[in-house]
Amino acid sequence: MTATLDTVWVLGDQLDTRLAALRSADPRTHRVLMVVSETKLTSKHWHIQRAHLVLTAMHRYAHSLRAAGWTVDLRDAPSLPSGLAAHRAEFAPGEVSATEPASIDGRAMLLAHGVRLVRTDQFLCHPEEFAEWAAGRHVLRMEDFYRWQRRRLDVLMDGDEPAGGRWNFDEENRQPPPKDGRNHWPVPPHFALDDLDRDVVDRLRARTWGDEPVGWWPTSREQALERLDHFITHSLPVFGPHEDAMTTGSWHLAHSLLAAPLNLSLLSPLEVVRAAERSYRDGRAPIESVEGFVRQIIGWREYVHGVYWLWGPEYRSANVLGAHRPLPPALTGAAPTSMRCVSTTLHDVRAQGWAHHIQRLMVLGNLALIAGIDPWAMTNWMWAGFVDGAEWVMTPNVIGMALHADGGRMASKPYAAGGAYIDRMSDYCKGCAYDRTARVGENACPFTTLYWDFLDRHRDRFVRNARVARQVRAGERLGDMEAVRVRAREVLARLDSGTL
Ligand code: SF4
Repeated sequence: MTATLDTVWVLGDQLDTRLAALRSADPRTHRVLMVVSETKLTSKHWHIQRAHLVLTAMHRYAHSLRAAGWTVDLRDAPSLPSGLAAHRAEFAPGEVSATEPASIDGRAMLLAHGVRLVRTDQFLCHPEEFAEWAAGRHVLRMEDFYRWQRRRLDVLMDGDEPAGGRWNFDEENRQPPPKDGRNHWPVPPHFALDDLDRDVVDRLRARTWGDEPVGWWPTSREQALERLDHFITHSLPVFGPHEDAMTTGSWHLAHSLLAAPLNLSLLSPLEVVRAAERSYRDGRAPIESVEGFVRQIIGWREYVHGVYWLWGPEYRSANVLGAHRPLPPALTGAAPTSMRCVSTTLHDVRAQGWAHHIQRLMVLGNLALIAGIDPWAMTNWMWAGFVDGAEWVMTPNVIGMALHADGGRMASKPYAAGGAYIDRMSDYCKGCAYDRTARVGENACPFTTLYWDFLDRHRDRFVRNARVARQVRAGERLGDMEAVRVRAREVLARLDSGTL
């Protein structure tokens, strides 16, 4: 008598029994559907650690649901709709419901196939709440949103005042790598691979890229909680000051590495920030570290999710700077590069499917911005290549934040920088084949050359931007600007041919 059961469809990034649709269901009256879609698996050239993470986590989650008494139909299917159709044909559920998905196309698909959507609580700020916050605002400043979140969620607040007396500790949290060469960053635990991991890797090996998983990324709730505990205990106390630093000695520094389990709902954002706040209240972590981390979770993470829904599918095609360069061979892995900052970051991506926010923004994103790489191509590459990738996070971060393709709707200035910034915030430039101080000549740093060339190419736009007008004017005064333009053409040609 299975036909009397209703179905709750749990998507691959909704692996939490506390999420809306499942919370209101019951194993006696509901069956759970999960679909592994071949179309999704082949929709991009995924990093193997990304694809392995999602598939393995889905299987472990189904196992945990069964252990808790649920009947779970975890099925492979050519596509999500065909998986639903096969499920309906086999079980004839009375109703199929799902928690609202985190994808615009996913939402349209579910509605088109008669799935009842339950209001999501996967994020702390629902898209409707974000739209209410945004209504009537000329500029959607993340800092304003973040403070609004702090107040309404009562996170790191002492009454009406921010804990520690300030909202923002960015100044303290922008330090370069430690000068003493310290590289004893807390090493997060590995999770031993089992037969399921190996089966999933065997299934994915031929169709993905990157190094195979070695157990960095939590694939279950238990592992995610272990990672959270390690971060709070060992890394959070030293997280803040060097959160923007880049070093060849450690790929993770003191970063939480929690975005991947958060984005699959193996952890909830509120439990993560409450754990961090407790650490501050108990005197185990300083305010600058805790505030910097809380800002990432209830500030940036929720902000990009909000603007993703607010600005809708048209935002994907934003390209006001007219950037149409295809992904260069250095990024696709078709050719090596002598740019040490890029090769180190790409090594981290290949090895772990991960690089931290400054490597993403100021190395990879910066290169794409000043070289004029197509924004949607770059978005898709990062979406497929990072373990925490998803459309809602990559689209605003790449199109708006990194590539300024939305004309400044999200970021009030382009995050373009030459070699001086990368040198200040990393140890990459020492030992690089290029000279970060030179903008012309065979050894000129490609970032430095392209930075000035970028400002020159887009002079008319950026001379009107108060945050970069000074640099544009400085570029106009360069005596060797024509030589910079010539060198920039060489650099771009070599980038395209994979010889830079
Ligand atoms: Fe990167 Fe330029 Fe520094 Fe080399 S010199 S590591 S290319 S910023």
